Amino acid sequence: ADGQRLPLVITPDGTPLIEPDAPELASHVGLATTPEAEFYDLVVIGGGPAGLGAAVYGASEGLRTVLVERSATGGQAGQSSRIENYLGFPDGVSGGQLTDRARRQAAKFGAEILTAREVTGLEVNGAARVVRFSDGSAVAAHSVILATGVSYRQLLAPGCDALTGCGVYYGSALTEAASCQGQDVYIVGGANSAGQAAMYLARGAKSVTLLVRGESLAASMSHYLVQQIEEAPNISVRARTVVEAAHGEGHLEQLTLRDVDSGASELVDAQWMFVFIGAAPLTDWLDGTVLRDGRGFILAGPDLTTDGRPPAQWELDRPPYHLETSIPGVFVAGDARAESAKRVASAVGEGAMAVMLVHRYLEQS
Ligand SMILES: Cc1cc2nc3c(=O)[nH]c(=O)nc-3n(C[C@H](O)[C@H](O)[C@H](O)COP(=O)(O)OP(=O)(O)OC[C@H]3O[C@@H](n4cnc5c(N)ncnc54)[C@H](O)[C@@H]3O)c2cc1C
Repeated sequence: ADGQRLPLVITPDGTPLIEPDAPELASHVGLATTPEAEFYDLVVIGGGPAGLGAAVYGASEGLRTVLVERSATGGQAGQSSRIENYLGFPDGVSGGQLTDRARRQAAKFGAEILTAREVTGLEVNGAARVVRFSDGSAVAAHSVILATGVSYRQLLAPGCDALTGCGVYYGSALTEAASCQGQDVYIVGGANSAGQAAMYLARGAKSVTLLVRGESLAASMSHYLVQQIEEAPNISVRARTVVEAAHGEGHLEQLTLRDVDSGASELVDAQWMFVFIGAAPLTDWLDGTVLRDGRGFILAGPDLTTDGRPPAQWELDRPPYHLETSIPGVFVAGDARAESAKRVASAVGEGAMAVMLVHRYLEQS
């Protein structure tokens, strides 16, 4: 209340929450954070499209299902201002709308959804698969679907870390768009996520500048987006340009940009910078359990076999099912899987397919 300890949240019944952490806030807005049971048929880890897809199919097909999400459901898709290529939405749909509907659909079928709970461990205890939370508590199940997706890579230039959340953002274009009205916005990255953010922010911003390390957008962005960007009067593209430093007292004020060919630096005014420079899976917590590739993506099914043979620790006579990891009964769906398609539709589809394989696993075990 003295302006020193923020945020201050006042709940509808008037209770003040001073500097609440995510679980405290979640519990006051009616979101569940604690499992109702100790044992389930299926624990789904991650509440993006893959996890929500798995929860919808798991619960609707009679599996006692709990989904655990470390922040709020939606995943990367929930950050997308407009998804144009998801089947059945010819006019596009915002990622928030799509995933909120999926959350309600999963809940309608009886899936339990826990938010603000981070999973930090996976253990095998006989036939049970034990999922451990960051506070040490655990929940067990016959089967697990890992749907932990990917997270944005951070920009390492000096100043970016300190100004993250104060003018520098990773992928959260949608939530900050209102603040960018009439201002100069920079977007770092040349892939579709950067292009979509540029189109969305250009509706209100004075100018949007896309900073691209490569020669042009054509190599990394869908043709339809490149066309839209070329036609937008207030979007410009600076190719072969990187951010060398971010400056500002309490909020982003300026950026130092560097031309990668000439090495020349330039200081520009910038109040907002949104960074989309690729993503990496957050799977370190799985070290020593399921097998992963060199970049941390989870290996499954045929990708686990060498010359047709499953990995040494695989103990069953049958080979791993298509989305099954190196631990029987533990499956992976969506962006966290090695060689996955990195699309909403494929993530949802893999969530559904993983549930089908869970049924097969349960029938045989
Ligand atoms: C801005 C943007 C725009 C996009 N636009 C499109 C588009 O137009 N069309 C398209 O097809 N695709 C698009 N994509 C890609 C698409 O959103 C992803 O492919 C899809 O969201 C992947 O789903 P997922 O469930 O595998 O992973 P994610 O969406 O990454 O969700 C993973 C979830 O798991 C949670 N999690 C991670 N670790 C843990 C843990 N240890 N414990 C508990 N929870 C955890 C995360 O918090 C997250 O909510 C876009 C992506 C972005 C970022």
